[in-house]
Amino acid sequence: MKRIHLSLLIVLSVFFVQCSLSGDKAGEKATPQVKNVIVMIGDGMGVSQVYAGLTANKGALHLERSHFVGFSKTYSASSYITDSAAGGTAIACGVKTNNGSIGVDTAGNPVRSLLEYAADNGLSTGVVASCAVTHATPASFVAHQHSRSMEEDIAVDFLNSDITLFIGGGKKYFDARSDNENLLEKLEAKGFQVALNMDGIKKATTGKLAGFVADEHPAPYPERGEFLPESVQAAINLLKNNNKGFFLMVEGSQIDWACHANDKEAAVNEMLDFDRAVKAAFDYADQNPNTLVVVTADHETGGMALTGGDLSTGELKAVYASTGHTSVMVPVFAYGAGAAEFAGIYQNTGVFSKVLKLYGFGTDK
Ligand code: MG
Ligand code: ZN
Repeated sequence: MKRIHLSLLIVLSVFFVQCSLSGDKAGEKATPQVKNVIVMIGDGMGVSQVYAGLTANKGALHLERSHFVGFSKTYSASSYITDSAAGGTAIACGVKTNNGSIGVDTAGNPVRSLLEYAADNGLSTGVVASCAVTHATPASFVAHQHSRSMEEDIAVDFLNSDITLFIGGGKKYFDARSDNENLLEKLEAKGFQVALNMDGIKKATTGKLAGFVADEHPAPYPERGEFLPESVQAAINLLKNNNKGFFLMVEGSQIDWACHANDKEAAVNEMLDFDRAVKAAFDYADQNPNTLVVVTADHETGGMALTGGDLSTGELKAVYASTGHTSVMVPVFAYGAGAAEFAGIYQNTGVFSKVLKLYGFGTDK
């Protein structure tokens, strides 16, 4: 009797050890090490903007390849309805701050951004935006200013940062400044290649790059051409040289402006342009399994509602409840390594904490 018990115990313990071993192995497979992170922000991109793009494109978006989807709550420290400065800062730095604030908390203290954590840990870093790089969303990842309107000071923050590349508009904040400083020359002195057109941007495949395609903002799509998806590709081509990995923020900036104008055609143009940029990022993640892509918004704009449409013709009827931002939750689409972390409903600051955790960076640095 005792012998039977003993042998049963041995069999059972071997069984449990094997189970826990295979469990560990399965766990490792489910969460590959995250080395590269691409955070993509469709400014003003709520669920209606996404579905407007899908409808106009006759029923398909690259975004539909997403592995996990969540929602984020976007209110700021000062308002039920956030602006892009507080919304960008929440995603970039993990704190809810006052509307208008860039990379600082409610007391005005600078807060380290994901991009800065990545740079401090030896990764390459970049921002790409279809607006001035000094505008609220890209600025939130690089600058620390109490007001988004201080774009000349934000340009100085770019110069003084450890960023590897930035591509967008906003050249005038660097070379036509009220203090007569020429920050383009200073960027070159710091080792940046300064490119003033797409050819120059595409040619810079190593080192550091400041790419400007406009004095202020790039034109709306389609006038600006394939600037955004091509710039995402160019940025990845340069950033991928670092074997420690990279952090890249990409903004589809003008979905917001189209919806402030209650212009559904412009919203669709900007949404589909952003979706083509998403494709470039997802395709890179397919080839590089240590890559995470997170696609989200800072807030919804316009209270856009789709009141009719036809998926076979791409026809779309839309109405807007507002010319400003709204308070609704926004979608978070995740693709690649660690994407499962982004399922659920959480604060906009959760994007920051989840990315930081997946990178494995300590918060004490
Ligand atoms: Mg923006
Ligand atoms: Zn806006």
